[in-house]
Amino acid sequence: MAQTDKTKPLLEIIGVDKSFGSNRILKNCSINVQAKETVVIIGPSGSGKSTLLRCVNQLDPADGGNIFFEGRDVTNDPRTAPLLRREIGMVFQNFELFSHLTAAENIMLAPMKVLGMSRHDAHDIATALLQKVRIPERADHFPDELSGGQQQRVAIARALAMRPKVMLYDEPTSALDPEMIREVLDVMAELSAEGMTSLVVTHEMGFARQAADRIVFMEAGEIIENASSTDFFGGVVHERARRFLDQIL
Ligand code: ADP
Ligand code: MG
Repeated sequence: MAQTDKTKPLLEIIGVDKSFGSNRILKNCSINVQAKETVVIIGPSGSGKSTLLRCVNQLDPADGGNIFFEGRDVTNDPRTAPLLRREIGMVFQNFELFSHLTAAENIMLAPMKVLGMSRHDAHDIATALLQKVRIPERADHFPDELSGGQQQRVAIARALAMRPKVMLYDEPTSALDPEMIREVLDVMAELSAEGMTSLVVTHEMGFARQAADRIVFMEAGEIIENASSTDFFGGVVHERARRFLDQIL
């Protein structure tokens, strides 16, 4: 949990709407994320959590509303998409590592291709980041030689290699065996504590309690609750969020 800087939000999601065909998936969704804040999004499957993250970094265009990043309106502006992809790191449920590249090479790829960094410099960054995610000894292993928890930590390191200003995590531990969840959450919590601005879809309430500044509850495309961690865990919880929590805990 970080000290919140109450200046202009780093990321402002304002009244975002999104439909797929005639299905309205996101309904007037608004979330502010201040620099250094960690915001956790919870909610039932199909409630639109992934779609919301995908709208933020323009993997899916929003149909309505606005997204501001560092005060700039980046809503569906193709010119800002490459910049956003650089400055917003994303971690997916299924790791999505390049299977033909080693752990180190997965991390080196974007710094070399996108930032034009030398192989030598990129390798130094990969070495430091593998240390950071606590698997320095796995640098030369391919993804299929790594456990799920190790693969996800490489995916986090790969995202960090671009020195993002925000990290988006979409259920980063839900594909993992239970014994590997903690090692991934520990890395995420450490990053949050160091001030990495983060928007995290997860149902790991232990992580939320430890790392989140705010908790957002979504249901059927709507944001039902957006509470400080203190209020949320202090029991000031919307009844629908309470019912959801009772199911998952
Ligand atoms: P969550 O991440 O909360 O489980 P999603 O954002 O993945 O929810 O999905 C919300 C709804 O949008 C679901 O009903 C899903 O079927 C639908 N949906 C998501 N992506 C697409 C797509 N590309 N085309 C059509 N429907 C989609
Ligand atoms: Mg999802």
